Amino acid sequence: MSSAVAPVPSRPAARERAVKRQTALVLGGFHLLALLAVVPYCFTWWGIPVVLVGNAVFGSIGINLGYHRLLTHRAVTVPRWLEKLFTVCGICSLEGPPLQWVAVHRMHHQHSDEDGDPHSPAHGFYWGHVGWTYADDAALKANASRYIPDLISDPFQKYLHKRNRWARVYVAHVAAIVAAAFALGLAIYGTLADAAHVMVLGFVWGVVVRTVYVWHITWLVNSASHRWGYATYATGDQSRNNWVVAALTNGEGWHNNHHAAPRAAAHGHKWWELDLTYTFIRGLELVGLAKGVVPVKVAGYKRADGAG
Ligand SMILES: [Zn+2]
Ligand SMILES: [Zn+2]
Repeated sequence: MSSAVAPVPSRPAARERAVKRQTALVLGGFHLLALLAVVPYCFTWWGIPVVLVGNAVFGSIGINLGYHRLLTHRAVTVPRWLEKLFTVCGICSLEGPPLQWVAVHRMHHQHSDEDGDPHSPAHGFYWGHVGWTYADDAALKANASRYIPDLISDPFQKYLHKRNRWARVYVAHVAAIVAAAFALGLAIYGTLADAAHVMVLGFVWGVVVRTVYVWHITWLVNSASHRWGYATYATGDQSRNNWVVAALTNGEGWHNNHHAAPRAAAHGHKWWELDLTYTFIRGLELVGLAKGVVPVKVAGYKRADGAG
């Protein structure tokens, strides 16, 4: 990224900050709907594995690998069809269009915890976690396109962005999950009432709770991993390696490592820093579906403990 890009204020003053009403409504609506999970008719212990598998597919493969390590940092190269598939998986986490996600994240790397960082928890944990997502920051919007010249010239990404087609992809995946749950219920129980019940369970756990869960664990990388944990490298920002966030996100919580070596495919740098997203990338490499896996290179940073 060019250092000529002007920093935008990291947290617009309250009087200048408009709320993205649609985003706020979607966020609020999903959180309210997620409460259905504790209503007896909607509760099932099966919900927990469903959320975890959903997170693996749409969170870890979609967001961590697709949006983050592939589209934002080009830490790996995969065949075009697979890049499209990973992009679609990321869209199904409802974290906004890839173009916007990547622009915001590149800004974050360029201005970490300084003016211009769209979501630094230095301005309050709530702001760094979720507040920034529905703040209508005009300066941020005006600068965004400068961070993503590669994606703006990508016909597939352009197609998804235009007329909010990406949102239709999300709606289509909801319809597919609901229909699959209904068919599964019918196949197992054989009655329409039971099929309808499984369909409701599929919607509540497979769509709503999973989407809200993936939101929060993604946001924890921005909030908790810029506040709590240990710093292996003196990166000059507040990024930390946080094992709880790393466990929840399958590897994204090794965030100080990531700030020290943003392009590296692996976020776990020590043998015990488990990074299942990277394990998956190595698996893809093994079967010939990934190449150019960017290695860890952090020579430019002093170790935070002064040892290196
Ligand atoms: Zn960060
Ligand atoms: Zn990053």
